[in-house]
Amino acid sequence: MAFTDLCRQSCSRASESDRCYRYFPCLADPARRSSLCLRLVLVIMHLVYAGILFLFDKDLIEKTRREPWYTALYLLLFLATLVQYFITACSSPGYVIDAIKAVSLLANYNRDASKKNGSFVVTVDDPLRRNLLGCDSPWSKTVMDLHLPGTPTRNYICSYCNVDQPPRAKHCHDCDRCVLKFDHHCTWLGTCIGYSNHCRFWWYIFLESALCLWTAFLYINYLHINISQTWWKSAIMVAMLIFLLMSSIFLLLLLLFHSYLILTNQTTYELIRRQRISYLSHVPRRVCPFNRGMCRNPYYFCCGGSSYLERVPTPHELEERSRPYTCWDALTCRCCF
Ligand SMILES: [Zn+2]
Ligand SMILES: [Zn+2]
Repeated sequence: MAFTDLCRQSCSRASESDRCYRYFPCLADPARRSSLCLRLVLVIMHLVYAGILFLFDKDLIEKTRREPWYTALYLLLFLATLVQYFITACSSPGYVIDAIKAVSLLANYNRDASKKNGSFVVTVDDPLRRNLLGCDSPWSKTVMDLHLPGTPTRNYICSYCNVDQPPRAKHCHDCDRCVLKFDHHCTWLGTCIGYSNHCRFWWYIFLESALCLWTAFLYINYLHINISQTWWKSAIMVAMLIFLLMSSIFLLLLLLFHSYLILTNQTTYELIRRQRISYLSHVPRRVCPFNRGMCRNPYYFCCGGSSYLERVPTPHELEERSRPYTCWDALTCRCCF
């Protein structure tokens, strides 16, 4: 083939892709393209797993006629899992830049309100609002107060975004932004898991685990009744069941791991990269510095508030948290509060 033909072909292919990107601008970004592909793969996998079951399993169809609520419950879980996946994937993990905007807006609003009242004094209890007036950068002051006194500013200024990071925030190179209470960047969801969507992520893995286990149970039930019939159907079902069981084990372990993180108020990043985090590297491994107790941790995890602005504990507080448990501590439920 002549060189000019090759050039013409590649040019026409480029113009086709340009036209495609004009109609679907999200496809122009390779990262968004791959995350869209992953989402499509996930939906197809779910449809294939449930579809094959309803296609092959005549007993299930018969059971649906007799007890429609059983299949309705399964389909409800199926739908809820997919909806939760998309809600988590499309939600913001809580970017530092958004928190800065919110704090600045709040500062401007309070300043205007104070001017109208002829006073610059703000009497609010929220630690977020306390240092907003009389300071050029309310966010910087708030962040500085959350770190231990004397901490060099270079330790918490992001060299990529040039913003002040509150404790527990981290820059994500995939999202190219700093994320509050950074947990990890989830490739499967195509987004970061952080302060704002960690709870949604937990619910997603909970629903996905339940769906996988129920589907595995239906596959086992089918094989138990129909194993001696058509061999190729059984082979397909066995192969799919093996993958399903492996996914279920992985999801259950992930669910247990994240439940442990929630109960101890830790993140995956803090647990794995503890030595790299300046304010955690000197803390003994058995001590969870941000632990508020097994009752308060899930409450703040679910109900949020301004809990992304967590102060680095002082050496005295750390010493108190690392104190060994006594019988009195067990009686007074020290681990809970
Ligand atoms: Zn950053
Ligand atoms: Zn990310």
